[in-house]
Amino acid sequence: MKARDAMYIGGQWRPAVGQETIAVVNPADEQVIGHVPAGTAEDVDTAVRAARDAFAGWAATPPAERAAKIAELRDVLVARKDEIAATVTAEMGAPLGFSQMVHAGVPILVAGSYADLAATYSFEEKVGNSTVFLEPVGVVGAITPWNYPLHQIVAKVAPALAAGCTVVLKPAEDTPLTAQLFAEAVDEAGIPAGVFNLVTGLGPVAGQALAEHEGVDLVSFTGSTAVGKQIGATAGAAVKRVALELGGKSANVILPSADLAKAVSVGIANVMGNSGQTCSAWTRMLVHEDQYDEAVAIAAAAVAKYTVGDRVGPLVNAKQQARVRGYIETGIEQGARVVAGGPEAPLDKGYYVAPTVFADVTPDMTIAQEEIFGPVVSILKYADEADALRIANGTVYGLAGAVWAADEAEAVAFARRMDTGQVDINGGRFNPLAPFGGYKQSGVGRELGAHGLSEYLQTKSLQF
Ligand code: NAD
Repeated sequence: MKARDAMYIGGQWRPAVGQETIAVVNPADEQVIGHVPAGTAEDVDTAVRAARDAFAGWAATPPAERAAKIAELRDVLVARKDEIAATVTAEMGAPLGFSQMVHAGVPILVAGSYADLAATYSFEEKVGNSTVFLEPVGVVGAITPWNYPLHQIVAKVAPALAAGCTVVLKPAEDTPLTAQLFAEAVDEAGIPAGVFNLVTGLGPVAGQALAEHEGVDLVSFTGSTAVGKQIGATAGAAVKRVALELGGKSANVILPSADLAKAVSVGIANVMGNSGQTCSAWTRMLVHEDQYDEAVAIAAAAVAKYTVGDRVGPLVNAKQQARVRGYIETGIEQGARVVAGGPEAPLDKGYYVAPTVFADVTPDMTIAQEEIFGPVVSILKYADEADALRIANGTVYGLAGAVWAADEAEAVAFARRMDTGQVDINGGRFNPLAPFGGYKQSGVGRELGAHGLSEYLQTKSLQF
């Protein structure tokens, strides 16, 4: 994938108004691999107008036809799967196998699920003497992060298009090449001009202009809690729909009856995948005090298999690397015990962080409260179930989690008391139709499946 010095607006690749560009860096070797335009408020305005112009036509397109276009988009993503994986690896550093399976594979599943849903969803309901119409909200401003560059785009654009909305996307500045590839796929799929538009640029410039634009009816944001709060406040002041998918500090609760070896090693794998840059990662492992030492030993052995550069990629940029190393230092200062890894950079080149496991972590420590977004697992000790629940629910976040027990009903009973949006029981299995999103400060709204689609709809009732 080559960088394009243009943005996709109104069905055409157009140069940006300004001259500024953003350098794209491969985090594995720190080499610049391309430049993309740094869009301004003027570019955003052009894109929003294009999306507005396309809205009436796309909203009036029968859902089955919209579904067919999303299916074509999915087919293009399938045809370009290897290129997608290579692009994601080049700009955010994930190992190629992980990119193929997850970064390219999951968006294909999600796009397919929305092709199916758009074809079968009921956009009209009867309620007593009323008919309720589910209508598209309008123009969507989508702002996405770099951690799952294509998935985050598809999880917003596919349901928005299925609903009949049109979209302006501002992708993360670290991963614009994947977004350009996606725009090419939209074009190749024959999705009408203006239905999807891409403006690359910096968050505080292009992102902010998009979030504040009067012509945007709904802002869907995934990223940091700090920026999410700002976007929520802006949307609130304008009485504009908003969806926020923010951070997490998810608990992996291992109940005493569980298969300890499996729960611990799957828990480590869950965090090491994508180098810990996953908002739903189970970064806090909760183990009963009687099994604690055994769990720590299993974790240390499990993490040793995650060799840096091979199975664990670099972090996305130097800033994230410094941030994560800073958290590891804070953990040590506050008295946690390093069982594996540590703050030293494991390689001379590339933004790598050593896979790190902390033991003797207490719930009040910074590393047990704040989102680290790196390959770092904290193992905490609990005395009984009530204590485990208190610890699990004891952060401002509530995005995901896991519960392990010999008896599934026991795990389910615990999961129902967790203040979190998604829980995997005994490992779980990814379901592209299951709603994903946060309780508490992890966000507002849901992505994926029918719940994700309904975010982009508004209701009108007619009484007879
Ligand atoms: P960020 O919130 O700054 O960036 C996310 C997106 O928002 C990017 O597209 C960015 O350009 C845009 N943005 C930034 N400032 C904006 C503004 N003022 N107005 C509108 N858009 C704006 O996140 P980051 O700095 O890349 O990462 C920092 C931390 O955020 C991470 O360490 C992690 O804790 C968290 N994070 C969470 C997720 C998630 O999936 N929930 C993803 C990425 C990062």
